Amino acid sequence: MLIPCPVCGPRDHEEFTYGGDATVTRPTIAELSAATWGTFVYDRTNPKGAHEEHWHHVHGCRRWMVVSRDTETHAVTEARLVGAWAEPKTEPGED
Ligand SMILES: [Zn+2]
Repeated sequence: MLIPCPVCGPRDHEEFTYGGDATVTRPTIAELSAATWGTFVYDRTNPKGAHEEHWHHVHGCRRWMVVSRDTETHAVTEARLVGAWAEPKTEPGED
């Protein structure tokens, strides 16, 4: 399975570490309870078909990304950077 890293280009999945389901939303402090935290930590679906997952390019650029992958065929259709790495870099004075 090849993952199209936005920084390094297509790379074998063995260069990456799976980081979990990218569709899960962390609860806010206001809605935090033992039950909502338990759901956030432990309750996962086992989807068949298109799914979004976090992957870390640990043996490459070391960036986190969301990978769109079909869980049945392992076909990867997209990978995009997340977090601070997804922000476009600006040089001093470019603002
Ligand atoms: Zn990379």
